[in-house]
Amino acid sequence: MPLLVQKFGGTSVADSQKILAAARRAIRAHNQGARVLVVVSARGHTTDELVDLAKEITERPPAREMDMLLSTGEQVSVALMAMAIQSLGVPAISFTGSQIGLVTDSFHTKARIRNINTERMVQALDSGKIVIVAGFQGVDENYNITTLGRGGSDTTAVALAAVLGADACEIYTDVDGVYTTDPRVVPEARKVDRISYDEMLELASLGAGVMHSRSIEFAKKYGVPIHVRSSFSDAEGTWIVAEGDARRLGVTVSGAALAKEEARVTILGVPDHPGVVHQIFRNIAEANIVVDMIVQNVAKDGRTEVSFTVAADDLDDTLPAAEAAAKAIGAGGVTHGAGVSKVSVVGLGMRTHTGVATAMFEALADAGVNIEMITTSEIKISVLVQRAQAADALRAVHRAFGLERPAAVWNEPFTIEKSATRLLRKAPATENGANGSAAPSIPSGMEDLVISGVELDEGQARVTLLEVPDRPGYAARVFRHIAEAGVFVDMIVQNVSHEGKTLLSFTVPRDAADRAVEAARAAGEGAVTVETSLAKLSVLGVGMRTHTGVAVRMFGTLAELGINIALINTSEVRVNVATDVSRGREALGALRKAFALPAEA
Ligand code: ADP
Ligand code: ASP
Ligand code: MG
Repeated sequence: MPLLVQKFGGTSVADSQKILAAARRAIRAHNQGARVLVVVSARGHTTDELVDLAKEITERPPAREMDMLLSTGEQVSVALMAMAIQSLGVPAISFTGSQIGLVTDSFHTKARIRNINTERMVQALDSGKIVIVAGFQGVDENYNITTLGRGGSDTTAVALAAVLGADACEIYTDVDGVYTTDPRVVPEARKVDRISYDEMLELASLGAGVMHSRSIEFAKKYGVPIHVRSSFSDAEGTWIVAEGDARRLGVTVSGAALAKEEARVTILGVPDHPGVVHQIFRNIAEANIVVDMIVQNVAKDGRTEVSFTVAADDLDDTLPAAEAAAKAIGAGGVTHGAGVSKVSVVGLGMRTHTGVATAMFEALADAGVNIEMITTSEIKISVLVQRAQAADALRAVHRAFGLERPAAVWNEPFTIEKSATRLLRKAPATENGANGSAAPSIPSGMEDLVISGVELDEGQARVTLLEVPDRPGYAARVFRHIAEAGVFVDMIVQNVSHEGKTLLSFTVPRDAADRAVEAARAAGEGAVTVETSLAKLSVLGVGMRTHTGVAVRMFGTLAELGINIALINTSEVRVNVATDVSRGREALGALRKAFALPAEA
C-alpha cells in the first residue's frame, strides 16, 4: 500500500474552510488506497503574530520560551485538522512533535532533528487512521520543546517521509509549484516542471522561500521525491527529484533567487598566515550563525581582508564574534554594511561560469546596478547589491537568462517507478537515524552532515585584477574578454571596495593562465597578477552551508598543517579552497582523515 506524506502550509490551513478542504484532500488519497500522513503548519500568520507578541514583551525573548510559544501554532492546527477529518467520517489522530518522539538537539529556534521514533505513527497508520503531525517542532533530550527554524514544517514533512519510507512527499502551498524566481517579486516568473535536489538546495538556501532548504537535504540524502503543488487546484506542480530526472539539455540557468535582508561583515588588516581564517569562522560557528559569500582578498604587504555575509537578523550576534576573532588574530578591525541583498542564479548547466557570469554581470551593468561582492560555486553565482536596487537586479537577471520563456517540457509526468530518483531511495531509517546503506561517515543524528568525499584538482591558476573601480559594468567587461579568449573560469571572488577600488580574482586551468592574464589586461585598467601553482581542495556533502562546522573543520585541518588558504568558495554541496599545489596531496590526506573517510585507494 503506498504511503504518502502531505504537508499543508500556513495559507492552506488559514481558516476552517481551508482546513476542511485540506482534510478532503487527505481523505481522497486515503480512499484511493494510500496510507496518509499529514503535516501541518500554524494557521495563516499565526507564527508571525506570536513573534510580534513576544517582541511586545521584550526586545530579546529567551530562545527556549520562544520555542514554547511558537510551537503552539502548529498544535492548534493538528487538532483542528484531526477534527475536520473525523467529522468527514474517516478516523484520524493528531500528534505533537514530542508525541512522535521527534528528538532534536538543543539549539532553540534552529534545532536540528536527531531521530524520530516511527512506532506510534506506524501503529496508527496500520490501524487505518490518517495521522496528523505538527510541523516545525520537536523536543530535546531534556524534554524542552524546540523548533526547527522559520519555514521548518517542510523539513518535518520530508524527514517523516524519509523515516517512513514514503513514496512521495507532497507540499501543498499558495503557489502551484517552484517558479524560476519568487513570482511575488517578478510576476513573469514561470513554473518549473522539474528541478534537481542540488538546484533546489541552492535556490532555497539563497532565498527562494518556497521550501525550507534543510528539507531538501533530507530529500537528497534519503531519495524522497517532493511534489510542490497548489492547495487550491489539482494541477501538476513541480517535482524536486534526482539530477538524472531533472536535467534539461541546453538549460544553463534554472532559477534566480533573492535574499533581501542580508548584512556584510568585513575583517580588515588580517595577517596573511595559516590559521587566521579558521579562527574567524570558528568564532562565528560557535555562535551557530550561517555565513555565506566568504571572500578573502589576495594579500598585500602581508595583510588581507576577509568578508562574508549573514542574514540581517544575525548581524547583532555576528559582530561580537567577529570582533573577538579580529582581536585574537591581530587584525585591523571590523566593518559592516547593513542595507544589502544577495542576488543569485542557479543551474546545473553552468559548471563552467564564463558565459553565465558574463551574461549576469552585463544584465546588472545595463540596469545600472553596482556589484559589491561576487562569489560562485559549481552551480551558482551570487552577487551582493544595495537593497534598494535588489528587486531591479533580480528582474534584470531573470530576463537576461530568458527565464520567463517556457523551457523544455517532459512528454510524460514524473513517475517514481521509472525514475533515477528511485535509485537514491534508502531503506526507511531506523530509530537512531542510521539507514540501510553504509554511509562513508556515519552520523549520530538524522540531520547530521554526511561528508561524501574530498577532492583535489592540482591544475589551477588564479588571476587577480588589483585595481577594479567600484562602478557598474566593470566585471561584465572583464568576463566578456575572458569568454572571448575561450577561457573557462572556475571560481570567481570579488571583495567589497575601499576608496572606490577593489580586487577581483578568478581561477582558470593552469594552461589557460597566460591567455586569461592577457584578456584581463586588455579589459582592465590596473595591474593584473597571476599565481600559477594552486590546487583546489573540495569537501563534498549535502547541506554544507547550514552546517557551519564543515568549513571550520576544513580550515582547522589546513591550519594545523600550516597551509595557507588562497581562496575560498562555498555552496550547499561543497566547500572549496585554493592552496599551494605543493601541499595539495598532504592536505588531501589530512582532510580525508579529518572527515573520517577511508584513505584514497
Ligand atoms: P507555506 O506557508 O505554504 O509554507 P511559504 O510562504 O513558506 O508557504 O512559501 C510559498 C511562497 O514562497 C510563495 O507564495 C512565493 O511568494 C514564495 N517564493 C519564493 N521563491 C519562490 C519560488 N522560486 N517559487 C515559488 N514560490 C516562491
Ligand atoms: N509556522 C512556522 C513558520 O511560520 C513553520 C512553517 O510554517 O513552516 O515559520
Ligand atoms: Mg513555507
